[in-house]
Amino acid sequence: MTNIITHWRDGAIYDGTSDQWADVTNPATGKASGQVALASTGDAAHIIASAKAASQTWRETSLARRTQVLFAFRELLNSRKEELAHLITAEHGKVYSDALGEIARGQEVVEFACGISHLLKGGHTENASTGVDVHSKRDPLGVVGIISPFNFPAMVPMWFFPVAIAAGNTVVLKPSEKDPSASLWLAELWKEAGLPDGVFNVLQGDKTAVDALLQSPDVAAISFVGSTPIARYVYEEASRYGKRVQALGGAKNHMVVLPDADLDLAADAAVNAGYGSAGERCMAISVLVAVEPIADELVARIVDRTRTLLIGDGSKAATVDGKEADMGPLVTKAHRDNVASFIDSGEAAGAKVVIDGRQVQPRGEQDGFWLGPTLFDGVTPDMDIYTEEIFGPVLCVVRAKSYDEAVALINANPYGNGTAIFTNDGGAARRFEEDVEVGMIGVNVPIPVPVAYYSFGGWKRSLFGDTHAHGTEGVHFFTRAKAVTTRWINPAARPEGGLELGFPQNV
Ligand code: NAD
Repeated sequence: MTNIITHWRDGAIYDGTSDQWADVTNPATGKASGQVALASTGDAAHIIASAKAASQTWRETSLARRTQVLFAFRELLNSRKEELAHLITAEHGKVYSDALGEIARGQEVVEFACGISHLLKGGHTENASTGVDVHSKRDPLGVVGIISPFNFPAMVPMWFFPVAIAAGNTVVLKPSEKDPSASLWLAELWKEAGLPDGVFNVLQGDKTAVDALLQSPDVAAISFVGSTPIARYVYEEASRYGKRVQALGGAKNHMVVLPDADLDLAADAAVNAGYGSAGERCMAISVLVAVEPIADELVARIVDRTRTLLIGDGSKAATVDGKEADMGPLVTKAHRDNVASFIDSGEAAGAKVVIDGRQVQPRGEQDGFWLGPTLFDGVTPDMDIYTEEIFGPVLCVVRAKSYDEAVALINANPYGNGTAIFTNDGGAARRFEEDVEVGMIGVNVPIPVPVAYYSFGGWKRSLFGDTHAHGTEGVHFFTRAKAVTTRWINPAARPEGGLELGFPQNV
């Protein structure tokens, strides 16, 4: 039976009126598992109207009540996360334990947002001028749109909506059409947690739905995560319509290994961060910069480890003798074919194919979207496997003669999402932290995704806008500041006021 996936509006499933649908597939079988509605502009307007109607009441709901709903949501999510992980694996393809990991990182943001009362506290200054007090406050924006990518159907929306909702906004989430089911599961969870209808809504669809959000006068802000060309478009279009925008884009993350590094630790990290989630992570390591003379030894250790990986259906049901696959399929056939075409072009350009993922033998159905881990050595910066974001299990080794050459590579790259250095030299690590033009840096940590109370975001083509996700930057993004200057007449201190047409002096 085909699973029909539609929208969520006013606390209930909303079918919409569009006759446009897209197939949703299980990447491990290659078979369609459902169909997702692609909203019309009219459907989008209906859903945005619900979010708008709920906005005033929600912003006036006490902080105590809003926080209670957040805590209830956190408890439900924690107790039922296995259900969500199954949904993610079935539509995205990442292995079940990795799906649980994604939920855990999203849950961190929910926990952060449970402390919103503290985060919304303003400042107060008494007697800033004689008898005059000043205080600051942060108001919600109204309706906010969240547009998310396929690779983290639960975590990326959770980077934003817990903070947005806790701060008193209402939300329209536009998930990826490739794995849309997690969004409806989360919507039902909110309902169970006691969130009033209309505060959290889901709009399924493609560019039509996105454009409706970007152009609606009733949407105040957009949080987008996806590829760089679309991030740039979203940033420019939403800005043109007067919105506040944060648009997180693609990446090409370099991991530098200095000669004094622990090579076993570095090899483990390169394999985990290069091939985890089939390389479909914006913080995946796609370029390994080996600073000579350790490249041969490091590549050998990576090869040994990669050859032990089990590629297959990552669902819990496919676990054999308690062993889960290490890496699942890619998200769609088109994406698998695109990544495979990069392997062809890297080989044609003269890079050495040390491990060839095109010859994978998966534990799974033949029609799954399989591609094994691929390791290139001798990659140079002119090759398209170096310049393009491949977003698959393809790790490129570039050999550098020195630390300076490694850093120059990173800084010449148009992306600036994440990077890492492996070394036992504290001075070199400290220098690296200062030298690189990248938003998130790891020292002997390959995927340095900040914890929820710090903010997530890259530099350069990896982020359009100024504000990073979650942490205090997230709170600032979803609120705007007011400064209030107050004078109350003190009858005992009359006379007050008087005519004075000049700028008030500090008295
Ligand atoms: P994508 O850009 O194709 O899609 C992202 C969202 O935009 C989806 O909701 C999609 O429906 C919508 N969209 C697609 N084409 C559109 C168009 N022409 N007009 C308007 N909207 C459109 O990205 P994806 O393939 O789903 O995700 C992978 C990309 O996301 C990679 O580039 C990855 O690096 C990036 N990503 C970045 C981060 C980060 O934090 N910087 C995190 C996760 C993923």
